[in-house]
Amino acid sequence: MESRRRTIKGGIQQPQVLRNDAAKATDALPLPMYLTNTVFFALFFSVVYYLLLRWREKIRNSTPLHVVTLSEILAIVTFVASFIYLLGFFGIGFVQSLLIPRASHDDILDEDDFDLRVLKEDSRAAPCGVVDHFKITDPQLSPAEDEEIIKSVVEGKTPSYSLESKLGDCRRAAAIRREALQRTTGKSLAGLPLEGFDYDAILGQCCEMPVGYVQIPVGIAGPLLLDGREHSVPMATTEGCLVASTNRGCKAILASGGATSVLLRDGMTRAPVVRFGTAKRAAELKFFLEDSHNFEALSLVFNRSSRFAKLQSIKCAIAGKNLYIRFSCSTGDAMGMNMVSKGVQNVIDFLGNDFPDMDVIGISGNYCSDKKPAAVNWIEGRGKSVVCEAIIKEEVVKKVLKTDVASLVELNMLKNLTGSAIAGALGGFNAHASNIVSAIYIATGQDPAQNIESSHCITMMEAVNDGRDLHISVTMPSIEVGTVGGGTQLGSQSACLNLLGVKGASKEAPGSNSRLLATIVAGAVLAGELSLMSAIAAGQLVKSHMKYNRSSKDVSKM
Ligand code: ADP
Repeated sequence: MESRRRTIKGGIQQPQVLRNDAAKATDALPLPMYLTNTVFFALFFSVVYYLLLRWREKIRNSTPLHVVTLSEILAIVTFVASFIYLLGFFGIGFVQSLLIPRASHDDILDEDDFDLRVLKEDSRAAPCGVVDHFKITDPQLSPAEDEEIIKSVVEGKTPSYSLESKLGDCRRAAAIRREALQRTTGKSLAGLPLEGFDYDAILGQCCEMPVGYVQIPVGIAGPLLLDGREHSVPMATTEGCLVASTNRGCKAILASGGATSVLLRDGMTRAPVVRFGTAKRAAELKFFLEDSHNFEALSLVFNRSSRFAKLQSIKCAIAGKNLYIRFSCSTGDAMGMNMVSKGVQNVIDFLGNDFPDMDVIGISGNYCSDKKPAAVNWIEGRGKSVVCEAIIKEEVVKKVLKTDVASLVELNMLKNLTGSAIAGALGGFNAHASNIVSAIYIATGQDPAQNIESSHCITMMEAVNDGRDLHISVTMPSIEVGTVGGGTQLGSQSACLNLLGVKGASKEAPGSNSRLLATIVAGAVLAGELSLMSAIAAGQLVKSHMKYNRSSKDVSKM
């Protein structure tokens, strides 16, 4: 009973159960364990009572004991069965508890120990399916055992985050957490699917404490003819018209001979903030870091972080005694935040020798600048800086885009340039770059929060070839993408990368996959800008024609 009591107190399967390699017969019982135990207890004591009564009768009547009636045979069979059951359930555990010395205390945890262990065993530490001797080796436990764990999570005895490491089965952990969540909140998660997702793939990498996954449809825009290659662009979105509109832009680009892109720079940034006793000392470090003679030594230290990390530049900004050091480095096919952060840490440790009075306030001091609108990214660039252009022929503007070059050029000037200037835009000199960036980012496993700086874009339009054709360009200084690491390795996302031919690390030229992806993002933005701007231009024309009754143009054909 002692070991059983611990189960209830600890709120989770007792270690004996958890460590059981062999499945017990009781595991196969269809009823919850406490019900089965109650039934067998009742049977056992009632047949014992009955048999004792019969025994007394026989002694009184001098009936031989071996002469038994049918009901007595049944009672004996029931006695043996219930005895075997109860012995199997409680007896073996009791004998084990006597034989196993207290020295193996780690194996038999009480509640406090359990909580301590849970703290040490953060779910990120142990991959699912890899279990140590504290955990279940057979993940197929009975619903009764799941029920106990759910109750324990609901009661707060088992931390929800520890389920993966405790159970060694990520899907089961998600199912138990989900059920516990529904019970504690009283809200149903019926529409959020649980099945059909690889929970092992996200452990320690993409998402903690999963209870299911959100479905986002993926549409295809294209072919996008860019630099002589055709791409089918996956876009994950729930915004109607977005894919259709981008697709129309791709069609216009294709019909005009394609778009061309140039990657202007490729470097991820991280800027720690350090503090000195005086502004003079902060300035001394600034001069030291920006002195070209020191660059080689600093890059040697920085580049130790990864064979793909190559320090490119260091740019410093001072605010009083505080120094913000913006390191920029190439990161191969990775988006690079981890890589650059490791390199920065190496340099900070190294600088500690010559600048022992340097107080490191934070590895990121927001001069980087990650996931926040910031002029530094708009001006200096972050990740991949790309310019992409196309000349859209006059007839394509008319037939595919249903507008005309002059209207587009005018609208671009008044909306994307002047309008954005009036609004005080920071990198937002475009119609809807973030729509396309976000949809591609979600489809290909990028960090969607980085759409903030990745969507910085200035869209330019100009009439060329004697005013007949349209020159359109998008300049995007901060496209932050990778084809390895983060969410890119997950099944759906890597399928989308595969569609674009940029899945994983490029073996021929490290970094070429992520650079190609960045140009595709810019190309798709070009298509999106072209289409939405055309729709707005055409819409304005329709409205103004209706308003002012200028019937010189056939608006029905626009
Ligand atoms: P991030 O720095 O974008 O957060 P991660 O550090 O999670 O990315 O992933 C990059 C990892 O992938 C590194 O461990 C790196 O060594 C490895 N890797 C393998 N091939 C490449 C490649 N071609 N380019 C960049 N990293 C690569």
